[in-house]
Amino acid sequence: MAIEASNFIEEFINEDLAAGKADTVHTRFPPEPNGYLHIGHCKALAIDFGTAKKYGGMCNLRMDDTNPAKEDTEYVDAIKEDIHWLGFDWEDRFFYGSDYFDKDYEFAVELIKKGLAYVCELTAEQMEEYRGDLTHPARSPWRDRPIEESLALFERMKNGEFENGRYTLRAKIDLASGNFWMRDPVLYRIKHMPHHRYGDKWCIYPTYDFAHPIQDALEGITHSLCSLEFEIHRPLYNWVIENVSVPHTPRQIEFARLNITYTVLSKRFLRGLVESGLVDGWDDPRMPTLCGMRRRGYTGASIVDFCSRIGVAKADSLVDIRLLEACIRDELNETAPRRVAVLDPIKVIVDNYPEGKEEVFDLPNHPQHPEMGTRPVTFSRELYIDAEDFAEVPPPKFFRLKPEGEVRLMGAYIIKCGEIVKNEDGSIKEIHVTADLETGNGNPVDGRKIKGTIHWLSAANAYDAQVVMYDKLLTLEDPSKLPKDKEYTDYLNPESKKVMLGAKLEKSLADAKAGERFQFVRTGYFTPDSKNPGTFLRTVTLKDSYKPQ
Ligand code: ATP
Ligand code: MG
Repeated sequence: MAIEASNFIEEFINEDLAAGKADTVHTRFPPEPNGYLHIGHCKALAIDFGTAKKYGGMCNLRMDDTNPAKEDTEYVDAIKEDIHWLGFDWEDRFFYGSDYFDKDYEFAVELIKKGLAYVCELTAEQMEEYRGDLTHPARSPWRDRPIEESLALFERMKNGEFENGRYTLRAKIDLASGNFWMRDPVLYRIKHMPHHRYGDKWCIYPTYDFAHPIQDALEGITHSLCSLEFEIHRPLYNWVIENVSVPHTPRQIEFARLNITYTVLSKRFLRGLVESGLVDGWDDPRMPTLCGMRRRGYTGASIVDFCSRIGVAKADSLVDIRLLEACIRDELNETAPRRVAVLDPIKVIVDNYPEGKEEVFDLPNHPQHPEMGTRPVTFSRELYIDAEDFAEVPPPKFFRLKPEGEVRLMGAYIIKCGEIVKNEDGSIKEIHVTADLETGNGNPVDGRKIKGTIHWLSAANAYDAQVVMYDKLLTLEDPSKLPKDKEYTDYLNPESKKVMLGAKLEKSLADAKAGERFQFVRTGYFTPDSKNPGTFLRTVTLKDSYKPQ
């Protein structure tokens, strides 16, 4: 199976296939069902599922639920939904880490019988105290406990005879190892806590380092791909595989975690935001969760595209959030039909346009894609333009509407600013203009040199809607540089959510359904909120200065 490697993981796989160490590629994605997936998980699962697919292999989905503390079936269902949304599928290979509790126990007994594990009586504090340092080995007073005694105690641990923390089962490896994870690591702990799938059957639970390699080996995983923080655990992973009678020898390969500017990818932090009400749930469109990004209008394809653009590296790095935005912008620029929305409307009266008269212009749904058709847009005496497109005291080079100035209404006439009528509080009530009715009619090639073109809606073709503008949730660019005396919540961006209550939208948007996406011309890309019918959410702004190298 000669496949050209496009990253170091595939190079390793090619080596293994060439050397006959594996004859297929079988990976797994092992999320812990204690929160919703975020875009960091997407990088991992795109590698797990993507690599298997590239080699014509398989990828399992396995809920890592060996820790009984905080699982929830709500999360299991959400994880499955998110993975399918991204376009990946585990077929009939859905497992739980807890499926193997019986096997884990048997293998622990095997290690004790081989003299490779023992029951220890140190408390957690003592273990910390005895762990030694780089120049001093750890101390472990119970490591020479006779095998029979450890076997008997381990069984009694399982039978629930002891309270939490009274004993642990530890591997007997190397107290002087330079790798602290090899200094007789704990394999089992007593935890009197019901498991969401097994209730009170167990009161001892295996550690991740013991359970994970066994799960991989029993499922026939050939390549166990994981993020870089597990690199230091690899010798222990290999030790477990070598010393228990598992049928397969998986290989662990680590890759860099995804870090993104202005974004914290940690379930614990994200859960904190949800629980403290600082965001509107896991699917708040500002969250880097897949459900949040989906609600905001991201497509699964654009996120997978992002993961492939950033590539697979061995060393950690920080990815600019604008690259993520560029991925969805590039897609929507091609696919999203154009519509008009006036987010902060000012009323405009065209004095020389007869009351009651209406003209219909056909505007293209996409300027570069005539096959996407046109839609009728009404022109009438009463219009709306955006407050941003008018300046009573214009700054230099302001080419939109200003006193005495002329501007082109997109696809329609050129107008000239006349009287500005104010409310009692000084705000603008309406602007009177005159239209040059010789121009326009959908044809801007009329010989007039007018620098500014603005979007507009006729009152007859507008309805009121709520539009929500999002910006980054945090103001801290590099989340790894959090000052010691600060918390991430000190960096919440007060401008991250702005609700435009009185926006005017083109009437054809009134029937838009969740999952549809539009470009509001000159404004950005928007999608109907799946949770609040009638509200539109901004997925991403129209332009950005970011230029990928
Ligand atoms: P968190 O730190 O957000 O709680 P986790 O690692 O505890 O994440 P798991 O559910 O255990 O979450 O993750 C499943 C897989 O996703 C793991 O193999 C992990 O390596 C990977 N993963 C998690 N976060 C990232 C990330 N930022 N970049 C790449 N992979 C990640
Ligand atoms: Mg984890």
